[in-house]
Amino acid sequence: MKRENCFKLYNDNEKNEMEKLCGGYIDFLSSCKTERECVKEIIRQAQGAGYVNMEEALSSGRMLRAGDRVYAVCMNKAVALFRIGQRPIAEGINILGAHIDSPRLDIKQNPLFEDGELAFLDTHYYGGIKKYQWVALPLALHGTVAKKDGSTIDINIGEDENDPVFCVTDLLIHLAQEQMEKKGARVVEGEDLNILIGNAPLAGEEKEAVKANVLKLLNEKYGIDEEDFVSAEIEAVPAGKAREAGIDRSMIISYGQDDRVCAYTSLKAMLDVTDSEKTACLLLVDKEEIGSVGATGMQSRFFENTVAELMDLAGVYTELDLRRALRNSRMLSSDVSSAYDPAYAAAFEKNNAAYLSHGLVFNKFTGARGKSGSNDANAEYMAVLRNIMDSSNVRYQTAELGRVDLGGGGTIAYILALYGMEVIDSGVAVLSMHAPWEVTSKADVYEAAKGYRAFLEKA
Ligand code: MN
Ligand code: MN
Repeated sequence: MKRENCFKLYNDNEKNEMEKLCGGYIDFLSSCKTERECVKEIIRQAQGAGYVNMEEALSSGRMLRAGDRVYAVCMNKAVALFRIGQRPIAEGINILGAHIDSPRLDIKQNPLFEDGELAFLDTHYYGGIKKYQWVALPLALHGTVAKKDGSTIDINIGEDENDPVFCVTDLLIHLAQEQMEKKGARVVEGEDLNILIGNAPLAGEEKEAVKANVLKLLNEKYGIDEEDFVSAEIEAVPAGKAREAGIDRSMIISYGQDDRVCAYTSLKAMLDVTDSEKTACLLLVDKEEIGSVGATGMQSRFFENTVAELMDLAGVYTELDLRRALRNSRMLSSDVSSAYDPAYAAAFEKNNAAYLSHGLVFNKFTGARGKSGSNDANAEYMAVLRNIMDSSNVRYQTAELGRVDLGGGGTIAYILALYGMEVIDSGVAVLSMHAPWEVTSKADVYEAAKGYRAFLEKA
């Protein structure tokens, strides 16, 4: 088994390609911090590459043929792209899957309150976070407010250099003697994750004048009232752009790389495919971080229904052929892997850990304890993928999430496996996964994009 740092292997041409890809990835991370923002940008790029909304294709009445490209959207939070292949759809689809939701603080439905002449927005955290990591750092507010008249207002405050930012306050160390004795999970409590939003009182207002001033400003700038929070989805996320990391600029630090590193590289692969025997699919879903539930999560019928629509548009829909198409499909369920971190070496088993800059990661299985909750990919399928990666000069590694019996996790893989298709977990190694700022290697981003493309073209 040869394990090598990819940077050692690149020629100038490969280095240039890697930098170009990572430049686009950094821009994507900087401007797409919510699932809705991701879907919008993905549709923009897909349309630029000739993809047509499936509903438009439906109303045009023209039958889809090999080479045609369509996309479908679910509630502005999940999206599927398809490129029709030469072979019948019932022979199976090559699917790249990833998720576009990330851990964050969601603003509650009745969030605004004033205390000590400070105005706050109350939050409910989303996904697995170490709560103490979310205090005392600049936060931005991203989201959508749906008005009763059916209109929607997009919110994005804190990303432009001239914007104000927000934060959750922390207790000074000098008074933290009791706090520092608490267990990590309770150092900062979920109910104390309140976002500081104002301190200036509204002139002439007696009671809760700071809150009144915040409401006045929100109304002036965005036309929203306090009651509009009821039908709003506003997410507090770390403010600021993704950056290159390290004196050698070998890495990328950013919010939300779980799992946008896989989403972006899969998108690039999908848009770069020019010819494929089988139908190619990119499936980017929401709600993975909270169990893939809801209409926009992987457990919803969105994907199955969309494949049925696709087959209908191609004039080949029957219930049996739909089932055959799903059963005969192959999938890379792509999500991030925890990279070996020498500061926490005991959490890993060195021979089966993912290493930064060692290429695309395959996890034959995930799960906890005795592989509980895992999709354990078939050896035969793993062999097919080895052959594809090796013949396409893609560097890859295999890994487990961490040491046996330490913890565990799952992805969307097991849900697609319900159709009887071949599914394996793959992805990119990340340091500080689920922290406000996560670290990846540019080389791994590059190898992932290459691996995903090779899969679409050869699987
Ligand atoms: Mn993930
Ligand atoms: Mn995650």
